[in-house]
Amino acid sequence: MMRHTKDDTERKIEQYLSEMTLTEKIGQMTQRGKITEKEKQMLREGKIGSFLNLRGAENVYEIQRIAVEESRLGIPLIIGDDVIHGYKTIFPIPLAESCSWDPELIEDTAAIAAREASAAGIHWIFAPMVDIARDPRWGRIAEGAGEDPYLGGVIAGARVRGFQRNPSNQPRVAACPKHFAAYGLSEAGRDYNTVDVSDIRLRQVYFPPFRAALEAGAVTLMSAFNDLNGVPCTGNRRLLRDVLQEEWGFAGFVVSDWCSVDELVQHGYAATREEAAIHAVNAGTHMDMHSRVYTENLERLVQEGKVSEATVDDAVRRILRVKFWLGLFENPYPERKSKHPVFLCGAHREKAREAARKSIVLLKNEGSLLPLDRRTGSIAVIGPLAEARQDLMGCWAGQGDAEDVVSVLSGIRHKLGSRATLLHARGCGTDGDDRSGIGEAVRIARRSDVAVLVVGESAGMSGENRNRTSLELPGVQRDLVRAVFDTGTPVVLILINGRPLSISWEDRHIPAILEAWQPGTEAGHAIADILFGDANPSGKLSVTFPRTVGQVPIYYNHKHTGRPREKSYVDCPETPLYPFGYGLSYTRFEYRNLRLSKKATTLQTPLSVSVEVLNAGKFEGEETVQLYIGDMAASVTRPVKELKGFQKISLKPGERREVTFTLTPDHLGFYDEDGEFNLEPGRFKIWVGPHSAEGLEETFELLR
Ligand code: BGC
Repeated sequence: MMRHTKDDTERKIEQYLSEMTLTEKIGQMTQRGKITEKEKQMLREGKIGSFLNLRGAENVYEIQRIAVEESRLGIPLIIGDDVIHGYKTIFPIPLAESCSWDPELIEDTAAIAAREASAAGIHWIFAPMVDIARDPRWGRIAEGAGEDPYLGGVIAGARVRGFQRNPSNQPRVAACPKHFAAYGLSEAGRDYNTVDVSDIRLRQVYFPPFRAALEAGAVTLMSAFNDLNGVPCTGNRRLLRDVLQEEWGFAGFVVSDWCSVDELVQHGYAATREEAAIHAVNAGTHMDMHSRVYTENLERLVQEGKVSEATVDDAVRRILRVKFWLGLFENPYPERKSKHPVFLCGAHREKAREAARKSIVLLKNEGSLLPLDRRTGSIAVIGPLAEARQDLMGCWAGQGDAEDVVSVLSGIRHKLGSRATLLHARGCGTDGDDRSGIGEAVRIARRSDVAVLVVGESAGMSGENRNRTSLELPGVQRDLVRAVFDTGTPVVLILINGRPLSISWEDRHIPAILEAWQPGTEAGHAIADILFGDANPSGKLSVTFPRTVGQVPIYYNHKHTGRPREKSYVDCPETPLYPFGYGLSYTRFEYRNLRLSKKATTLQTPLSVSVEVLNAGKFEGEETVQLYIGDMAASVTRPVKELKGFQKISLKPGERREVTFTLTPDHLGFYDEDGEFNLEPGRFKIWVGPHSAEGLEETFELLR
């Protein structure tokens, strides 16, 4: 795989280092997010090593040409970009995709995203976002894989492997897991806000997806905006040096988040930009994204002895190592095509449709209203998102174009052809208080056999710094839903959104609810496949849905209290609206015969856990069988239950399958107050079932 032997590359890196001036070294540590004549001149002088957000292969070609041909040493640039869920072909938002619980699928969509990005000259993808998020108010919950460290770790690994799959005849791409660390814990769901969290919890909940991403081979990492236990992440030595480099042996490089070096000043952690440079570089932030703090200060700081040249050299070595790994020295240029044939090609669109189908979660299906019969005479397709296209791509939609997106209305029309009468009314907007269109929606609902309501959030309501204080349907959409419901026509609710919503009223009244998230380019086709039974829903929630925003943060793997029987709220149940792992199917699965290979073990050999799953319904379907453990007593308090395994199986009606898991010390150990990973003897519970709040239960004893 490697184009050079390791020693060969290291020799070349040392050769470059010995030839580079201090200015040129700092240039490698500098990334810029815009290009003016000034940047071009800096580039010629060897003062820039990377750009982000250069749109299109032509632009990359031109700017790379300056680096390679007009700078003294000709070191190629590394070009980064946010390719979060697709470049031209847009896949479901990452939170949606995580509900597929399908790492192979996720690896494939990441590989396609990387392939298209690379055709546009991109070498480096600022993803996956692996921040565990348990606060749906936070707009960036859309970009991650939900609330759970185990599922999050599996998906982080899959995404990194996909982005870095790097087929032999194609240019390589590097992944950049972000944002290190605990960014998803920003207080009150306010982006960029304070994070104060114990070491135990960091190691147990927030670090695992990062470790999984690094174990999968990620060659770079991005530091977070937030401060962590009093020290902003970008200047956090404990985090970036002690944990990442020393403990985990990370040999790649760390890029700051956008201007987060400079933000050390705004955080009140550095008095000046100069001080910010000292903190960031000494902590182990190797590349400064866009803030120019390194450009303006590092050279002087080294000359004054406030930063050692060895620290700078270490950063440059790491950056050059990745540039060599990418093959940039041999092949710096992209093909100069603005419309590459891989963009939105048939195979990519087909994968997008599959990913969207598998991301959809059936939340409710009373009286088996779904799937709809294709012979249904007339369907009213209602709601502000029924004809939407841009909004179906969600936040960070790469270079996706709304014109390429299949709307829900056109997906249904395409599926039914001229067989059914389709009526459409918008009803209201996603936000705002204009109710004037509701009357028309009611009229068409009355004339139809079924009403499909497409409601939710616009794309701009989630993503970076798009936080909400309410989790209900925004604007007057509830009024629209209620008015259509009151007509008595059966209603199917399709939710398009970037975060868990609290839809308690809808859950009480509406018979069928599909959580479709923001499904991307093939949205309408995928939704129609599910609505009419060409695909059976199999998605399971990767994040808990609260009954009301007042329950937030609510997540399944919380701790015990000393008073487990006390009710917390006088005005609301303890339980969520839909638990983690939940999702229905058009068929029905039954779980039987949970068996452990031993009831007491030292775990010298793995413990095997098996269960029988039966498809007791009428449709073929996929089920994600989930295994949870609970450590009954330990030297630190442990979560009530934790996911430790899952398997996706497909069963025909009447078919049964035995599913077997193996548990090893890795699954049963935990981090203590000193950051040590321990395995303690004692009693454990095991559950295997369809979601976190339901399952067959067994216990076993871990022996000394
Ligand atoms: C975001 C990062 C992103 C970067 C570059 C920042 O605002 O936090 O996730 O990669 O911008 O666009």
